[in-house]
Amino acid sequence: MLGLWRKIHRTGRVAEPAPPPPGGDRSPAAAALGGSVQVRHVDAGSCNGCEVEIGSAFGPVYDAERYGARLVASPRHADALLVTGPVTRNMTEPLRRTYDAVPGPKLVVAVGDCARNCGAFAGAYGVTGAVSDVLPVDVEITGCPPRPEAIVEGLRKLTGR
Ligand code: SF4
Repeated sequence: MLGLWRKIHRTGRVAEPAPPPPGGDRSPAAAALGGSVQVRHVDAGSCNGCEVEIGSAFGPVYDAERYGARLVASPRHADALLVTGPVTRNMTEPLRRTYDAVPGPKLVVAVGDCARNCGAFAGAYGVTGAVSDVLPVDVEITGCPPRPEAIVEGLRKLTGR
């Protein structure tokens, strides 16, 4: 126990310093969240590169939770969907059903270039389209994969913190 305490004391805080709050007006749905957002992640056909960066965004260094964003296990507990990848044919209906399970007002964040415009998978036979072809998208996060800072910034647009 003493060894653990010493290690914590030696290491100190590892989180990046908080950048200034995001500018711009928030959508009425985001404003209704009251400063926190419960997020359900859906992989609609990603290569998993975006998932690695989402893991970093919620890890101790980038620490998205300090801005009020939290990952939850069920869409029924979520305010927003965090969707990665192009929407594949097999995931089109599950994605729609997951969206239907989220209580309103609900938001959708398209994470990564594949989610925004199919990216490297554009025109592939198994792809239905971008996330916006299936669901209304509120926030888009660019990059392949997007950096954790960009994911945190996108989530801060929802919480306003
Ligand atoms: S945006 Fe890049 S990292 Fe993310 S799913 Fe597409 S190819 Fe993979």
